Amino acid sequence: MAVLEVIKMGNPLLRKVSEAVTPDEILSADFQQFVADLIETMREESGAGIAAIQVGVLKRVFTMEMKKNDRYPDKGSFALTTVINPEIEPLGSEEVEGWEGCLSIPGIRGRLKRYKKIKLSGFDIKGEKFEKVLDDFSAIVAQHELDHLNGILLIDRMPNMETLTFQEEYDTYWKV
Ligand SMILES: [Zn+2]
Repeated sequence: MAVLEVIKMGNPLLRKVSEAVTPDEILSADFQQFVADLIETMREESGAGIAAIQVGVLKRVFTMEMKKNDRYPDKGSFALTTVINPEIEPLGSEEVEGWEGCLSIPGIRGRLKRYKKIKLSGFDIKGEKFEKVLDDFSAIVAQHELDHLNGILLIDRMPNMETLTFQEEYDTYWKV
C-alpha cells in the first residue's frame, strides 16, 4: 500500500475525460493494487472521496467513504464504496445546496447545488455490476467524484463566485 500524490488545480490532467476500465483490467493485480492505494490516499488526506485522475491516473474509477472526518465533522457517515465505470441517474429533480471542497483545490470552498437523491451504478472491484441509491451527502460526494472523471471541477458548477472562500474565512464567516 502506498499514499499517492494528489494533483492540484492547474494540472491539465484534471481537465481530461478519463477512460473506461475493461473487465480484464479490473481483476488485474496492478489495478487491484492501484485501488487499494487510492483508498489509502483518500484516508490519509481525510477526503470524503477521491477519483483516480486526482492521483494522475485517467481511469474511470472513484472511491468514497465517510467515517468521522475532520474536514466534514458535521456530515453523516457512509460506508466505503468503490465504483468503476460509474453512472449516475438523478432520482427526482430535488436539489440540495451545500459547501464543497476538493483535495485538488486545497484550502478553498464554494457553494453549489447537486441532486439530492441519485442511483449510482457501475462495477465493484470484483468486476460485479451493482447499483445503490444515495442521498444527501453521499449523493453529493458521488456527483462530485463523477465530475472529476469528466474533467469537471466544483468551481465549474458554482452558480456564481460570491461564495468562493478560503478555509480560514469559511471557518470565520460561514461555518455553522
Ligand atoms: Zn474533488
